[in-house]
Amino acid sequence: MPSYTAPTKDMQFVLHELLKVSQTDIPGYADLEADFTSAVLEEAGKITSEVLAPLNVVGDTEGCVLENGVVRTPTGFQEAFDQVREGGWTGLDMPEDFGGQGLPYVMGTATGEMFSAANQAFTMYQGLTHGAASAILAHGSDEQKATYLPKMVSCEWTGTMNLTEPHCGTDLGLMRTKAVPQDDGSYKISGQKIFISAGEHEMSSNIIHLVLAKIPGGPEGIKGVSLFIVPKFMVNEDGTPGARNGVSCGKIEEKMGIHGNSTCVMNYDEATGYLLGEEHKGMRAMFTMMNEARIGVGMQGLAQAEAAYQNALIYAKDRLQGRDVTGVKNPDGPADPLIVHPDIRRSLMDQKSFIEGARAFMLWGAMMIDRAHRMGDKDADGLISLLTPVIKGFLTDEGYDMTVQAQQVYGGHGYIEEWGMSQFTRDARIAMIYEGANGVQALDLVGRKLAQDGGKHVMAFFDMVKNFIKDNADNEALKANFLDPLKQASKDLQAAGMFFMQNGMKNPNAALSGSYDFMHLFGHVCLGLMWAQMAKAAQEALDAGASDKAFYETKLATGRYYMARRLPATAMHLARINSGADPVMALDAGQF
Ligand SMILES: Cc1cc2nc3c(=O)[nH]c(=O)nc-3n(C[C@H](O)[C@H](O)[C@H](O)COP(=O)(O)OP(=O)(O)OC[C@H]3O[C@@H](n4cnc5c(N)ncnc54)[C@H](O)[C@@H]3O)c2cc1C
Repeated sequence: MPSYTAPTKDMQFVLHELLKVSQTDIPGYADLEADFTSAVLEEAGKITSEVLAPLNVVGDTEGCVLENGVVRTPTGFQEAFDQVREGGWTGLDMPEDFGGQGLPYVMGTATGEMFSAANQAFTMYQGLTHGAASAILAHGSDEQKATYLPKMVSCEWTGTMNLTEPHCGTDLGLMRTKAVPQDDGSYKISGQKIFISAGEHEMSSNIIHLVLAKIPGGPEGIKGVSLFIVPKFMVNEDGTPGARNGVSCGKIEEKMGIHGNSTCVMNYDEATGYLLGEEHKGMRAMFTMMNEARIGVGMQGLAQAEAAYQNALIYAKDRLQGRDVTGVKNPDGPADPLIVHPDIRRSLMDQKSFIEGARAFMLWGAMMIDRAHRMGDKDADGLISLLTPVIKGFLTDEGYDMTVQAQQVYGGHGYIEEWGMSQFTRDARIAMIYEGANGVQALDLVGRKLAQDGGKHVMAFFDMVKNFIKDNADNEALKANFLDPLKQASKDLQAAGMFFMQNGMKNPNAALSGSYDFMHLFGHVCLGLMWAQMAKAAQEALDAGASDKAFYETKLATGRYYMARRLPATAMHLARINSGADPVMALDAGQF
């Protein structure tokens, strides 16, 4: 069975030597001294590796079962959920006013990676609740906040998000679920939602569904969509769950992975709902949840890659096959371990360099979110808004690829369920699809985010890269291996941006044919920037005589690998973008 060990040391490096969190001016960050964050991460490491990781395979093999309208979660999930709740993990970065611990989002992100890596299906129950609570926090009335938030922050009640309908996924304007206003100010919600994660289960005493629906007579399409709070059990005057509302689970889906999470068809039959935010402004309110969820899903890509890599590494050191072509390494054994072979090394280095770069990118992104939320920093908000589709799309595509590479290290054994490696690829696969399929993330990046606020945020990103290169121009240790490749990759990104500016208006297909490549090009530049910055931090530690030399030298070598072997992908993506729409659109639909 696969194991999981939380990467606390690497997280501490990112938090304190790269981001220098306790020295920033973000409110709440001064408390994030190394001793404090270490204690939090160690505790999160314990519960995730000792309690959640052993349940990962159980969740995969048992799955969820629907019986008489009730969903049974896998053996051990309820007890583990109680333990997670009691430990206060569900409200780590939620406001203290509502029972949370009030820590910055960056800490929720670091611990969140551990939870997701140890057991993605399990973690989704609390993850969706967190997103729903954030939407209520941002758009709810005082009464709604008081009614729902304390119970959702503690996960005594869980939450869901209900967008998808059988005929409407990406194109939410096609939505049919309707919300009819009632005299008492509530609404009657009727319709069917499908694929609703954590839609029904018994682990919490109530489930608070956030449901998108249309009020009859409102504007056509997406502009007519509003968001509603629909509790599974009506809430009594004293705040306890009361009568059953008109919402039920009709079916749970058989699916490729995340078997431990119930994916439900939810039927709303004149269920009582309460408007969240303003009428017809549902997408705005839902975007609070979706943006948070997209970043959380990006993290799932990183987390599954980390969990799979840890096991591939153990296997590569253990499994004996063939001999090192440069000389025997294990003379007492019948063969050398897999890790001597350059092609296995390539695969492990691909995984390791992605994971550490992605972790830095995620935590840096979380810091931008804290900057935006805790300081009202509009520039940080714009930057993270630009990069959200990159975090979601690039990290989940690459994360999935890395789980496949980890599986490949096991050869045929990777394909056999007993070893548990296929679960990582199956669980990672969904992250490329939900929260807006990755093709749609690319569309959002090129079609909307690039030009947002007159292109101000993409220019700020370019400046950030340019300034780092300029400020470190005299650093000989960084120049050839880090700064020069970053400069080239950034030029590729700018050239791609220029192509879209010149061609996007006159031939939208030219821009959209290159959007997926652009998302990956952008992702590589982000990780390239993170690696250059991490190399600088590692070099400084070595120059200062750090005792743990091996850690920093490993960091530098891993970074050099990324810059030499992964970052050149930007040239390929640029070439594809520059080829425009013709190669993509050459065939008529009938010619396929
Ligand atoms: C396990 C699971 C859990 C889920 N959980 C939830 C949940 O909790 N709540 C919820 O509301 N939904 C949930 N979903 C639904 C999920 O978010 C949707 O499946 C997803 O957004 C895609 O919608 P769709 O399946 O209808 O695909 P479609 O919208 O039909 O898209 C099909 C393909 O076409 C592409 N495409 C669509 N439009 C365009 C376009 N304009 N340009 C280019 N390409 C396009 C897409 O990228 C995709 O590859 C879940 C789905 C699954 C499988």
